[in-house]
Amino acid sequence: MPVKSPQHRPPQDMNCPMLPIVDGCAHGKCRFCDIFTDIPFTALPMETVISDIEGIAKYSTAITRRIYLTGGNPFTLPTKRLIEVFDEVEKRIPTVNSYGGFCRIADIANKSDEDLALLASRGVDDIAIGAESGFDEALAFMRKGHTAADIIEQAKRLHKAGISFTFFYLTGMAGAGHTEENAIASAKVFSEAAPKRILIVTMTPTKTWPLAADIQAGRWKVPTEIEMAHEIRTLIANLDCDCTVNCSHDTDILRFQGRVPENQEKMLELLDNLIPKMNEQASRRMREMLHKATF
Ligand code: SF4
Repeated sequence: MPVKSPQHRPPQDMNCPMLPIVDGCAHGKCRFCDIFTDIPFTALPMETVISDIEGIAKYSTAITRRIYLTGGNPFTLPTKRLIEVFDEVEKRIPTVNSYGGFCRIADIANKSDEDLALLASRGVDDIAIGAESGFDEALAFMRKGHTAADIIEQAKRLHKAGISFTFFYLTGMAGAGHTEENAIASAKVFSEAAPKRILIVTMTPTKTWPLAADIQAGRWKVPTEIEMAHEIRTLIANLDCDCTVNCSHDTDILRFQGRVPENQEKMLELLDNLIPKMNEQASRRMREMLHKATF
């Protein structure tokens, strides 16, 4: 069965073989996403998964330790199915003892504490979660499918199970005029959730997103580039947890990485130095050229 979903993984797992186990996203409603449009959510048949594992096994080496599970939200599958996949992997690639993948907050909520402990015992760790924001208004408008309270509750369950996690933060998600509120609310929620890493991505609407209709109708307005740079600064200034902040996605105009709290002041100094030198039109042109933005 050919997989239709585009395959991708976060930068920290760039050397990790990808194993598709689902096609599409079981949620598929976020206004800022078109990755899986027209790809119905399906659990891939085990024969397809095994054939892909055999393909990975051909190129595996003594240091192939981790597999990245792909498709929109592979951890939505029942725990039993995930364990069957791990068994098939380890039969063919016995060096593997770690699994990452994209995960929704709702996928964690749907698993029991026993499920999470079992997944942790089989090597599930550093999963990537599209938390995006801790500002309830923005989360609701964008139909993200979770609230700020859900983020904190599920993060605590992951910590208890011993599963570390990375959060995506979507700069600009609350729209023009709300960037500071978004950053302050998100810093509070993310600090309490305490992810291992925060990957910053910047809003770059395209004509194929559901949000395009909201932009046309005036229901949502993209913030300026300078506003979004200040939003990133406010987020970092208000973070109060041990984590790495990585702002180096294609959509980020100012790029850097550092640890909170060790490099927090340095990151703020860097932004204080760079933001006044930003040129709004040039930054926007760069975004338009790279990402076919709608504005
Ligand atoms: S949960 Fe992720 S993959 Fe699914 S629609 Fe939302 S942003 Fe896209």
